[in-house]
Amino acid sequence: MISAQGIHKAFGSNEVLRGVSLDLLRGEVVAVIGPSGSGKSTFLRCLNHLETIDRGTITIEGEVLAQSGGEAKAQYVSDAEIRKIGRKMGMVFQSFNLFPHLTVLENIIEAPVIVKGLTREQIIPKAEALLAKVGLAAKRDAYPNHLSGGQKQRVAIARALAMEPDILLFDEPTSALDPELTGEVLRTMRELAEEHMTMLVVTHEMGFAREVANRVIFMDGGHIVEQGPSEAFFAAPKQERTKAFLYNML
Ligand code: ATP
Ligand code: MG
Repeated sequence: MISAQGIHKAFGSNEVLRGVSLDLLRGEVVAVIGPSGSGKSTFLRCLNHLETIDRGTITIEGEVLAQSGGEAKAQYVSDAEIRKIGRKMGMVFQSFNLFPHLTVLENIIEAPVIVKGLTREQIIPKAEALLAKVGLAAKRDAYPNHLSGGQKQRVAIARALAMEPDILLFDEPTSALDPELTGEVLRTMRELAEEHMTMLVVTHEMGFAREVANRVIFMDGGHIVEQGPSEAFFAAPKQERTKAFLYNML
């Protein structure tokens, strides 16, 4: 689904990604954990082309987004290709990023109408079904400001799903939520995992990583320090840095 090989990314002299490689398989749920500043968000943003990479190769569903040979700068495919590949991925952000002037329903149908050219009649039943799926059918005509954080995030998930992505990327989807609201969002994500949605999730929720993710990746200093099947990863981390991180988290 996603293959990223040897990704390098610097902001000025700050080398944020120092050769990160990841293969995400169909139906896999992978949790990315690691300390603040380790490059987790940057890595996700590079996959989704919200940032450009300096070196490395990114392939999404068999289609090359960018590639570089050896030390050469990565070359991107055409803008049209980039847009096409981008549509295979949905992203859910920590800060929801809903349009405040649009109702819940309008938020969900916006992209399918504008980007995919669907008519409102075509997409509204689908949007309503997605709202029911995330438990928010009753909030169809509400504005985001009248929703709790957990409800906003579930709308954001429904909005991402409305584009029928093959892969969902999440960047700390529950970090902005009060603790009592994280459960409802994690529950929605768990349901998606049970439906075999392919997901890459940056999270501080170790319970989610342990119970829902198939695989856990620990990043530090722009590297993947350690990764493994969730159960083994938490039961017996191998690297000292991983142990220290988990000790502080759990
Ligand atoms: P957190 O857990 O706090 O979200 P993170 O692992 O997601 O951390 P990143 O946001 O990827 O970390 O940031 C990694 C480094 O890249 C940090 O030093 C950050 O300051 C820097 N950085 C990220 N985005 C930019 C940017 N647009 N311009 C300059 N520097 C950036
Ligand atoms: Mg981050």
